Amino acid sequence: MIIISNYELQEKTDDKFYVRSLEPFLCPCCRNDSMNVIGSRPRKYLQEDASQVTLIIRRLRCTECNKIHHELPDILVPYKRYKSECIEAVVVKGSNAPLTVACDESTLYRWKKWFNSLSEYFAGCLQSIAIQLGKETEEASKPKSALHRIWHYVGNAPGWLARTVRPLVNSNLWVQTRSAFLSNCV
Ligand SMILES: [Zn+2]
Repeated sequence: MIIISNYELQEKTDDKFYVRSLEPFLCPCCRNDSMNVIGSRPRKYLQEDASQVTLIIRRLRCTECNKIHHELPDILVPYKRYKSECIEAVVVKGSNAPLTVACDESTLYRWKKWFNSLSEYFAGCLQSIAIQLGKETEEASKPKSALHRIWHYVGNAPGWLARTVRPLVNSNLWVQTRSAFLSNCV
């Protein structure tokens, strides 16, 4: 899995789009910058009003380690059916990205539970990535809660969940949760 933030959506039909990447490849597993496009597959997602969009995403194979990666635009969270913006608006009470999301209570509950169970991990990963990049700041200035530590690294402006997901996925640190096995999303 690779998350891209620089891409264009090219309309195929009314609700179907090709994702055209405008950024270079970098394998999350071995950091090699060469991949072959070996195919594509549809990846559906739901918007806040529960309307469905289909993206045609590419399957890439790393020429070095041979791992296969799907290339997802950063509006999505791996294995989640709704777009990132919807999940972001729900997982944090009083989020500054308020959206009314049309989905049932159990889905909202699952998203909150998912985020709460992984937020410490996300904050830790962002910290280790910052250390690797030599960007880590003083320990004493860091906020205590996992969410505030996440915001410390990616900011709290709308899109913070997408900015959290991207570096984790692209560093091969994304964890697949149990519900992912029950869906056929990538
Ligand atoms: Zn590789």
